[in-house]
Amino acid sequence: YRLGKLNRAETTCGFCAVGCRFEMWGKDGDSLGVVPIEDPDSAPANNFSTCVKGKFGHEFANSRKRLTRPLVRNDAGEFEPTSWENALDYVADRLSEIQDEHGVDTVGCLASSKGTNEEAYLVQKFARQVLGTKNIDNCARLCHSSTVAALQQTLGYGAMTNRINEDIGHADAYLISGSNTTESHPVLATRIKQNVRDGADLIVFDPRKVGIAEHADQYTRTRPGYDVAWLNGLIRYLIENDLHDTAFIERNTKGFESVKKKVQAFTPERVEELAGVSPDELAAAAETLAAADTVVFGWAMGMTQSSHGTENLIAMADLALTLGQVGKEGAGLSPFRGQNNVQGGGGDMGTLPGSLPGYQDPADDDVGEKFAEAWGERPPEEPGLKVPEMFSEIHEGNLKGMYIVGENPALSEPDVTHAAEALEQIDFLAVQDIFVTETAEYADVILPAATSPEKHGTFTNTERRIQRVRPSSDPPGEARQDWEITQALANRLGYEWDYDHPKEVMAEISSLAPIYGGVTYDRLENGDEHGLQWPCWDETHPGTPYLYDYEEGNFNFDDGLARFVPADGGHPGELPDEAFPYTLTSGRVLYHWHTGQITRRVEGLMSHVGESFVEISPETAAQIGVEDGEYVRVESRRGAIVVKATITDRVGNGTLFIPMHFAAGAVNKLTQENFDPQTGIPEYKVSSVRVEPL
Ligand code: SF4
Repeated sequence: YRLGKLNRAETTCGFCAVGCRFEMWGKDGDSLGVVPIEDPDSAPANNFSTCVKGKFGHEFANSRKRLTRPLVRNDAGEFEPTSWENALDYVADRLSEIQDEHGVDTVGCLASSKGTNEEAYLVQKFARQVLGTKNIDNCARLCHSSTVAALQQTLGYGAMTNRINEDIGHADAYLISGSNTTESHPVLATRIKQNVRDGADLIVFDPRKVGIAEHADQYTRTRPGYDVAWLNGLIRYLIENDLHDTAFIERNTKGFESVKKKVQAFTPERVEELAGVSPDELAAAAETLAAADTVVFGWAMGMTQSSHGTENLIAMADLALTLGQVGKEGAGLSPFRGQNNVQGGGGDMGTLPGSLPGYQDPADDDVGEKFAEAWGERPPEEPGLKVPEMFSEIHEGNLKGMYIVGENPALSEPDVTHAAEALEQIDFLAVQDIFVTETAEYADVILPAATSPEKHGTFTNTERRIQRVRPSSDPPGEARQDWEITQALANRLGYEWDYDHPKEVMAEISSLAPIYGGVTYDRLENGDEHGLQWPCWDETHPGTPYLYDYEEGNFNFDDGLARFVPADGGHPGELPDEAFPYTLTSGRVLYHWHTGQITRRVEGLMSHVGESFVEISPETAAQIGVEDGEYVRVESRRGAIVVKATITDRVGNGTLFIPMHFAAGAVNKLTQENFDPQTGIPEYKVSSVRVEPL
C-alpha cells in the first residue's frame, strides 16, 4: 500500500512502553508531527500530552541517512547496493549452506522489541519453523528478563499486574527503585507526580538521585548491587512489627514461613552494612508502606540488570505479597518496561529461547502438537541460546550465522569489545534495520526496513495493552515492511507463507497463543475501550485489567495461590578495589533512547544532549582533581573511554553514572560480562572503574 500525499493516522508511540496514543501526520513520505488525542476516558496514559521524544523524536524517520536499498558487502569489503532478489537469495543461500554443513543450531536469530507483534511473531516462526533452530532471542534478555522470571515464579504471569492510569495514577503510596521514571517513562512519571501533588506518598530507593526522587517524600540512596538486602530488611521490619497483611497471606499465598525465616538475617544493622540504608530510613519506608491503603511498586533496569536481578524482583514481589498489595485498584507490581513493544515483541510473541507465543512451553506435548498442526512441524523443544550465550558461542565457533532484526548488540552487549570480536568472526551476518547501525557495520547483507510511523500492526505496552499502530508515511526508496522481508526469506527457503496484511498474522497469533485468543483488528479498531489487555481468552472476553484478585487470589498457578520465594542476594560481580576504586552505573537520559541509533539522528534531541558524559559527585571530583566540563578517561578491566565530566550530587561519593546511548564514549566498553544465573541478564549496573583527568 502506498499512501497519498497528506495523511493522518491514529497510532501508538514508537519509543517507550508507556504506549502513548496520538495522531501522526505525514506528507509526501515524511512524518510531519504528532497531536495528542484528548480523551479523558481513554485508557492509555497520555490523554493530555506526549513527552519530548514522542513529540519530536519521530523526525529520525525522515533522515536522509535511512537505508533505501539492500546492501551487500563486496570483495573489497565495501557495501554496495544490490537488488532485493540478490539480497534475499544471498541470505537464504548462506543460512542454508551453514546449516547443511554444520547443523541447524549453528544459526541464530534476534528479533526486535521495537517492531510490531506481528513482525516479532514471524521472526520467531522463521527461526523455529523455517530454519528449525532453537536459537531465538531478543533484547528483552538485557532489560527485563529477570522481572519476567521473578513474577512468573511468585505470581504466575511475568507481567505488570495492573494498569497505568487507574492504578499507577491513583495509588496512595509508591515504592520506586531503579527507575529513572521522569526521563525514561516521562508521561507515566507525570501521572505519579500529579498524584503525589495530590497527597500520595512517594518513596524512592536508588543509588542515584534521579528526577522522580526530587518529588519524593523519602529518597534513600542505596549502594549499587545490594537491593535484596534492603527489600528483605523491609519485609523483616513489617513482620517484626506485625504490619503484614495476615489475612491476605493466609488466604492467597503459600511459602510465607520460608521467607519469614530467610529475612531474619537481614537485621537493620546488616542492611545498613550491605546496602547503605540506615535503620531509620528502613523503618520510615516500612511504616509509610504499611500505612497506605494502596501501594504501587515500580522499577526498571536499576533493579533488573544485576547478577541478582531475578532475586531482586522476587524480593520485591515478596514485599508486595507481605503487604497484600496485589489485585486491587491503585495497587500492584509495575515493571516499567523500556522499548515500545518489549512486552509484546520481546516476550508475548515467543521471541525467547524455550518460550513459544503466549509463554507456552515447547516441551509440552499438547502445545507442541498444536503448533505442529498449524505450522506443519513441531518447534524445537529444547531452549536455545540466550543473547549473551550467542556471542560466546560465536567465539567458540559453534554459532556461525545470524539474522538480526532491529537490534544493535554491537553497542548494547556488555563488554562490547568482546561482542565486536564475535561479530567480526561470525561466518555470515544479515542485519535488517533502518540505518547502518554499529551492528550493521559488521554485516554481509543489510536489508532496509520500515519504522513505526510507516507500519500497520500492534504494540503491547507495559500494562499488557495491545494497541493498533498505523502508518502516516511510506518507507523510503525500496525499503520494505519487516514482515514482508521475513516472509520473502521464508518463501525462498521453501515455506509458502502468504500473509497479505499484518491482521492475518494476528489471526494466527490469536489461534495459537491463548492469552491473545480474543484479539482481532476489528476489536482493536471498533471496541468500546482503546486496546485490549491480555489475557483476552476469546472474542467475548473483555481483557484483563487486573491479573489477580485481592480477595480471591486467582494467581496463575493450578491452586490459585501466590508463592513466597526466599531471595538471597549476595555481592555484585565486581567490587571497588585499589586499582579500580569507583562503582560505575549506567542508564538513560530524557532525550535519547537505547543505543541512540534513532535519537542520535534527531537534531532537536542532540541539541539537548549531544555527547556522552560521566556524572561524578563533588567529593569524588575533588579526589580525582577534575572540574565540571573537563574531559576524563574512565577505565575498567575491559576497556577505556573518554567522556566529559558533569559534577553533580545526583550520584553519591564513589559512584559514577554514564548514559547508554552513545557510540563515542560507549559505556558498554566498560561493563562486565557477569550474568544473573537464572536469566542471563548482564550486570550493567555495577562495574569497577578508575578515572583520570586528561
Ligand atoms: Fe512516547 Fe513514552 Fe513519551 Fe509516551 S512517554 S510519548 S510512549 S516516549
